[in-house]
Amino acid sequence: MALAHVASLRSEDPFRKVGAVAFDFDNRVIGTAYNGLAPGFNADHEFWLDRDTRRKYMLHAEVNLCSLFTRGNVKLIACTTKPCTSCAQMLCAYGVKEIYYRDDYPASEADAICQLYSIPLIQITDYPQIISALEASSPSS
Ligand SMILES: [Zn+2]
Repeated sequence: MALAHVASLRSEDPFRKVGAVAFDFDNRVIGTAYNGLAPGFNADHEFWLDRDTRRKYMLHAEVNLCSLFTRGNVKLIACTTKPCTSCAQMLCAYGVKEIYYRDDYPASEADAICQLYSIPLIQITDYPQIISALEASSPSS
């Protein structure tokens, strides 16, 4: 979850930053991703000002994450926010076996979708805090 959190910091979205990380069956990190526009597209400053207008163009962190692997190669993913309904469906289609998330997203149907396919969907809020670890090791503290 700490890796997913760090990935979320790269998002350009000023309203919601979501990060995700995928692990294979040997517990190796396959990749990290975050919500944003399609790779290589640079929006101007005005684009980011209207939350509702920009929403339909945003690629969710899970979508960007799934672009990094093929079906059946991922054991688990961790997301900073519970996958939305569409992303939960997509993660099932990619054969993800376990899904962890930090922040709830009440509008999502992910619980029902994961229950149907017997995929654990587990909230984790207690994980290594990167910032705290850095602060604890600084000379001034
Ligand atoms: Zn989504």
